[in-house]
Amino acid sequence: MPAKKVKCIHCGTLVDEFVTECPNCGKPVANKWAPTKVSEAPWKWTPAKKKMNPLIPVAAIAVVVAVAALVYLRMIK
Ligand SMILES: [Zn+2]
Repeated sequence: MPAKKVKCIHCGTLVDEFVTECPNCGKPVANKWAPTKVSEAPWKWTPAKKKMNPLIPVAAIAVVVAVAALVYLRMIK
């Protein structure tokens, strides 16, 4: 069974059915709603300036420990 060819919706080039990007224009072939401007490579991303509050995981652990302690205290009564 020969590979089915589909037309690139952007430039009309016939491309293999299952390729995701047109070799001619480099845009996504199948989904015309897909963004044609792909994001930059990850190593070009600027690091996020807002860091996660370091207190949040600590607080979550404290809550878990507190609940576990309460359950434990109820069990040994
Ligand atoms: Zn194309």
